[in-house]
Amino acid sequence: MNKWGIPLWLENEVIARDTHCVYCGVKMISKMVPGGSRKTVATWEHIINDARIVTRENISRCCSSCNSSKGSKLLVDWLQSPYCKKHDINENSVADVVKAALKKDK
Ligand SMILES: [Zn+2]
Repeated sequence: MNKWGIPLWLENEVIARDTHCVYCGVKMISKMVPGGSRKTVATWEHIINDARIVTRENISRCCSSCNSSKGSKLLVDWLQSPYCKKHDINENSVADVVKAALKKDK
């Protein structure tokens, strides 16, 4: 398990699946390069902000830019934020794993 309580098999599965940010679709880098931007560094994301939900449906990877914007906001609320409007992030543009979570939420 990593420090977020994600078992290794799930960690590997999600890393392989989410090479691009599940929200904005940017291609992510796994760690920061010296002098580079940290915006596209991959971070762990609970789509539904509940650390107890450790499933392939809720654990995903998003860029640190989206992660810091989303913070602890509810996904549906965050999608209405100026950040998402600016970056054209909406329920149709997000990755399938996020769409599935949105559908379940309704
Ligand atoms: Zn992003």
